[in-house]
Amino acid sequence: MSAFLTLLFRNRLAALGAVVIMAILILVLNIPLLPLHDPDVTATADRFMRPFAEGHLLGTDHLGRDLLSRLLHGTRLSLAVGIAAALIAAAIGSAIGIFAGYFGGRTDNIVMRGVDMLMAFPYILLALAIVAALGPGLMNALIAVAAVNVPFFARNIRGITVGLAGREFVDAARLAGMGHTRIVLTELLPNVLPVIVIAMSTTVGWMILETAGLSFLGLGSQPPQADLGSMLGEARSAMISHPHTSIVPGLMIFLIVVSINLLGDGVRDALDPRLRSGALSRPRATTLVKRHGDVPPTTDDLLAIQDLHTEFHVGKRNLRAVDGVSLAVKPGECLGVIGESGSGKSVTALSVMGLVASPPGVITGGAVRFQGEDLIGAPYESLRQKRGDRVAYIFQDPLSTLHPLYRVGQQLAEAIRSHDSLSKAETRARAIELLNDVRIPNAKSRVDDYPHEMSGGMRQRVGIAMALANEPDVIIADEPTTALDVTVQAQILSLLDDLRRERGLAIIFITHDFGVVAQLCDRVAVMYAGRIVEEGPTQAVLDAPAHPYTKRLIACVPELGGGRRELAAIPGLPPVLDDLPSGCAFAPRCNKAAKSCRQGEIPLQGPALRTVRCLFPERTL
Ligand code: ADP
Ligand code: MG
Repeated sequence: MSAFLTLLFRNRLAALGAVVIMAILILVLNIPLLPLHDPDVTATADRFMRPFAEGHLLGTDHLGRDLLSRLLHGTRLSLAVGIAAALIAAAIGSAIGIFAGYFGGRTDNIVMRGVDMLMAFPYILLALAIVAALGPGLMNALIAVAAVNVPFFARNIRGITVGLAGREFVDAARLAGMGHTRIVLTELLPNVLPVIVIAMSTTVGWMILETAGLSFLGLGSQPPQADLGSMLGEARSAMISHPHTSIVPGLMIFLIVVSINLLGDGVRDALDPRLRSGALSRPRATTLVKRHGDVPPTTDDLLAIQDLHTEFHVGKRNLRAVDGVSLAVKPGECLGVIGESGSGKSVTALSVMGLVASPPGVITGGAVRFQGEDLIGAPYESLRQKRGDRVAYIFQDPLSTLHPLYRVGQQLAEAIRSHDSLSKAETRARAIELLNDVRIPNAKSRVDDYPHEMSGGMRQRVGIAMALANEPDVIIADEPTTALDVTVQAQILSLLDDLRRERGLAIIFITHDFGVVAQLCDRVAVMYAGRIVEEGPTQAVLDAPAHPYTKRLIACVPELGGGRRELAAIPGLPPVLDDLPSGCAFAPRCNKAAKSCRQGEIPLQGPALRTVRCLFPERTL
């Protein structure tokens, strides 16, 4: 709740709206305490007194009634009617929407066509018709305004409910034996409630205006009772001669509607989870770079990450997700990057092409050289040309990286065309060729499948095909097989292995599974808390791990047919990144840690290509 308020008030206009509407509410709620005249007592001798007249702060109207008193009473009434109408419309409309959306099929059709019929009338005409049928009066105006707004809520909420009703958690509730009422109340309602609140906050001002409109026409509140609309209506004839009688209620309507709308917009933005996480700011096209000094090129590798530092600046916290990482790959080489989840593998990978979201991500140091050219801080256009063309990514969950509404062929075509201008037929042929390359059987017909029509392994192959679309030099694969079962995983790994042998691809393969590294990678780098703690040729590291963390990681891998062996979980938790201990970050979980491990910087040491960051390695290198 307090997070919501902070976010809401960060929006200056919403805060202004909240202050104005609160001030108005406080005034009208305290009417009995204020020294006001009776709003309905006429005094024809005092007609049309100017504002600031003796005893009448805002003057008097055509019957000599005190305008301030009528204004406050009228505002109270208008607000009450508008808010009541909004609540009624929201309750009835949402109930209809949830009912239609949840049951679907014929129920949905019949209910929604009824709603459409209501919607087909211009709503002010409909409101007039309802009041004409029920007779003038404030209560009837309220009913009319609520009724004409029901379709709006029904449509909105039905749309959301249809999406939710097919989701897994609703199926799960059904499997658990819950009845319809329980599912609607405990599963659906909490999920649509924010939408209802948002729809209400953006329409309440509108409904106050509609009520005022009906009263203005003499169909709402009846004399002598004051509401804002009827005050305006009564002042109409004196608009030229005594403008203050119309300006006073007019200004109040303006203030109420504007402040409620500003507040409503603010509430909507603050409740929307997508806007919420980004604090209303869109991520930049490339990661923000705040780098001091330059890193001279050291190697002539195809892709070299040198002393990379990437941080997340969240509020006052500085999370050092990547803290001085250096890695390099040559053509045709596969480098494994391994570590527990949260160790900074993905952030390292995304930093290469400036894909870490900013805010909150900032690259604070280091360089990434692709064929000698530094990519960190490179202009957007130069990065864009390389993204997907020279350096391509494969991500973990293919279902979330593929667009659900486009056929895979179209998505492959998009990947091809963003860097190459080919004709439609050529792109299609190329897409089929790519699907063949990643061993999708029957590629010609599969190219027209939607992602949901494919299995997980198939989708990941499409992901790989997209990465291959522009024949990149480097592929960065971020846990591409984690979501797959072992047989499919083995197929994907052998596919990647073939591809790199055939095409001389350099692969950076990120995983948390030593078994996978053993199958595919030439070299492996072990990450812990944003740093490389050990690096070397895969076989050497597997046979003789030097860092205690690596040794523990390898011990966590179950072995088939190796007899019964206790799997050694690593005790303790990965460290908090904005509060790293000095010295070795693994020391608190290490059984060999000594006092010297907790002091000062520990360098990555060892002969070329075989290094470890430890004072007491398991073996000397
Ligand atoms: P993994 O090694 O599992 O891929 P990541 O590279 O995704 O780990 O994350 C490294 C660290 O950076 C984690 O501790 C994570 O909490 C932090 N992190 C990642 N993205 C963000 C973000 N957008 N905001 C704040 N912290 C983040
Ligand atoms: Mg990751």
